[in-house]
Amino acid sequence: MSTGISIIKLFGSILLLLNIFFISPDNTALAKKSAAAHPYIVVIDPGHGGEDTGAVAHVGKKSVYEKELSLGIAVRLGKVLSDPRYSAPLGRPIKVIFTREKDKAVSLEERSRIAHDSKADLFVSVHLNSNSSRQAGGVETYFLNNTDEKSSDKLAEIENKTSKRHNKKASEDLILKSVEVDAAVEASRSAANFIHKSLLEEFGREQLHFKSRGVKQALLYVLLDAEVPAVLCEPLFISNPDELQFLQSGENRQKIAEGFAIGILRFLATR
Ligand SMILES: [Zn+2]
Repeated sequence: MSTGISIIKLFGSILLLLNIFFISPDNTALAKKSAAAHPYIVVIDPGHGGEDTGAVAHVGKKSVYEKELSLGIAVRLGKVLSDPRYSAPLGRPIKVIFTREKDKAVSLEERSRIAHDSKADLFVSVHLNSNSSRQAGGVETYFLNNTDEKSSDKLAEIENKTSKRHNKKASEDLILKSVEVDAAVEASRSAANFIHKSLLEEFGREQLHFKSRGVKQALLYVLLDAEVPAVLCEPLFISNPDELQFLQSGENRQKIAEGFAIGILRFLATR
């Protein structure tokens, strides 16, 4: 009996020692260390790519594709966010992951998988708007809400076309009912508001008066599998001649990228 108690006591002491000297302090120290070094992860998703050109505009005999302009903005955005001087106020670096960095086809399922697997703090899809009316213009931002069927609208129809064409079954399978996605809706709304506002501020600073078309919710296949805050922004219209002219300048695409970046930084500061 007394031997049994001694063994139990000894075992208890060993556990206590392990707890004090190894498990607790080390884990706490490691947790603090990894939190300090742990970067924010932002997935940047340039719309379309490869044979999927997105919207097309014509300037004289030249065709201008949405896939090229969206990539031009996205690559610049990645450079800004990756700059340690830029993320310094956050106290943590930003790691940027692209769904594509060149002109290649990436299925919407693959884009969603990248967002999911990277456990991103934010997924930002960069597109450009288009309308049959050349007068239509301005900034339009969407955030993921797959919890409400009614939130599906014309953008969802247009931007989701590729996925449906390539792999209808996979798209149907992507409908998630996860708690994580539900929880991401509010964060997505917040991120969309920050990005939308900072883009308009950036244009305002340059005395450019592009219209705000608002922040809207959408059931987007491109964002459906993202259990992370997800935003799709269409900074301007490729079909509007004035806006297209603006978009064709690299310097202006840099301004748009900086507008995105400021909004993203403001959002990350709240996380
Ligand atoms: Zn698009």
